[in-house]
Amino acid sequence: MIPNRSWTLARHPAGAASIDDFALVDGQCDDSPLQDGEIMVRNHVFSVAPTIRNRLNAPTAGHRSAIPIGGVIGGMAACEVIASAHAGFPVGRRIVVLSQWEDVSRLRPDALPIPVFPIAEDMSFDAALGIYSPNSLTAYFGMTAIAQVRRGETVLVSGAAGSVGSVACQIARLAGARVIGIAGSADKCRWLAEACGVDAAIDYRHESVADRLRVLAPDGIHVFFDNVGGEILQLAVDRMRRHGRIVVCGQISAYDGAGGAAGPRDMMRIVYGSIRIQGFVVGDHIDDIDVARADLRRWCEADALSMRVDRRRGLGKLPSTLIDLFRGANAGTLLVVNDDAPAAKTQ
Ligand code: NAP
Repeated sequence: MIPNRSWTLARHPAGAASIDDFALVDGQCDDSPLQDGEIMVRNHVFSVAPTIRNRLNAPTAGHRSAIPIGGVIGGMAACEVIASAHAGFPVGRRIVVLSQWEDVSRLRPDALPIPVFPIAEDMSFDAALGIYSPNSLTAYFGMTAIAQVRRGETVLVSGAAGSVGSVACQIARLAGARVIGIAGSADKCRWLAEACGVDAAIDYRHESVADRLRVLAPDGIHVFFDNVGGEILQLAVDRMRRHGRIVVCGQISAYDGAGGAAGPRDMMRIVYGSIRIQGFVVGDHIDDIDVARADLRRWCEADALSMRVDRRRGLGKLPSTLIDLFRGANAGTLLVVNDDAPAAKTQ
């Protein structure tokens, strides 16, 4: 018998998610024999990501289906395989995978919409969801393969103090670009300047982004790495240089709304500016993760790159942590460590 606590969807959120939208179920994991291709994992550390919100209402804009009422909430987690009927994932293998908000999950790795990220033997669960995480890889591929950032360019990053954004800022800086970050408090802006080495930071809650961009980027923006969308996207579009590139990484300002994420107001600005707008998902680049992780490691070892991790403890914290993310009440990458899981009993 495997005791299993699971966070399920109690009701569809109306606007911002609230704690009553979730229900904790104290149950057991189905321990009937695994089907061919199935694995059972223990979820050790969860990454609490904005995209989880996108699956709490139907229809979803994404490539993943909405979670039904009573369904277990899905999210990326660092896990250990504890039973396996899949030759590629033997017992003991550690992976980062689209798992579920529970102690133990049964998964079909080959049927998941996001590839499985292997964890190297010398890598901790925290590092696998921290500096070497899919979020860092997102920043890496967004800033290199999609933005193709170059020395001397002016780069603007929204959601700059967050998990993806802060790494994107640092990678642009390492490429020799001039980096402007946008974040939601004076504290976050200070941290961006002091720890991430951005050239300037804009506190969008207390400053006029339009006015600050006019001063900070008088000749325009070469690359806009967008995590937020909405009004900030529009203000960036207004200041893009000719042949500028807009990397659409996420649109968090729209995840609580029902209408989807709107684009720029006037597409003729894109035409006359010869501007490229490109979306991407990190899974597009799974074949290149060894190269990316090697670069991340090299920069970390040279003290040129760091990630701030906001580590919370206990499976019970998952919904409140997700809610914090949408209030900006996170200091960097949000992880929830499942360190209070009940022990498996034998009967
Ligand atoms: P994060 O930036 O660490 O946390 C989210 C931050 O977004 C909050 O701290 C808050 O910062 C800001 N925010 C929250 N609600 C907002 C709103 N309504 N308007 C403006 N800002 C808001 O989260 P993350 O995990 O790194 O994700 C960042 C973005 O990357 C998200 O859009 C996510 O969907 C996207 N993403 C994309 C991929 C991909 O493959 N394309 C992969 C991972 C993540 P402030 O206090 O600064 O407002």
